[in-house]
Amino acid sequence: MLDTYAGDSMGNDIFVFVPSIVNIDGIVEGLGIYSNEKSALEKLRKKISDNWSDGYKEAQLVMWTLDSDSTDATPLKHMYAKTCPICDERTFWIDVVEMNALCYLPACQAWIESSDIEEERIDCGWPPIGFTSHSDSIEGALRELRKYGARIRTSMIEDSDIFTHRTLLEEYELSKKEKNKDNIT
Ligand SMILES: [Zn+2]
Repeated sequence: MLDTYAGDSMGNDIFVFVPSIVNIDGIVEGLGIYSNEKSALEKLRKKISDNWSDGYKEAQLVMWTLDSDSTDATPLKHMYAKTCPICDERTFWIDVVEMNALCYLPACQAWIESSDIEEERIDCGWPPIGFTSHSDSIEGALRELRKYGARIRTSMIEDSDIFTHRTLLEEYELSKKEKNKDNIT
């Protein structure tokens, strides 16, 4: 515990991490104050996953400097709950600071993330069947997931068999290959 404050005697700034969430009525609920970003983020994520159906609509994680009269906190996360492009629930949290997103419905977990490898590449995916794709923007990634989600939902009405999803994925990838071929010729 003392390690966290070791910077103090060195004259370094001490930072505190403050997560909060906005409920369905627009009221901000505090989620504590933490000495490290990891614990603050864990608390925020747990709150969202444990209460994914409760209609929370916005969440923030900010960093303050302790014993400072600065009136501005540094935003580390600013997330909004949107309708998930795959499962259609309002459980898709988009973080506008880091430009990534995750569906907190445990059975879905569709995601969007900026690529570490390539600049201006946005990856997206749906873990239940290992679907991944990429785009050059967050909107493009959303479109990819939406296109795929629409096909999954249609198939679920007829048959919820996971094998149907696998077939759909194969078909989808094949159709993409065909499209690329068209672009080349
Ligand atoms: Zn979802």
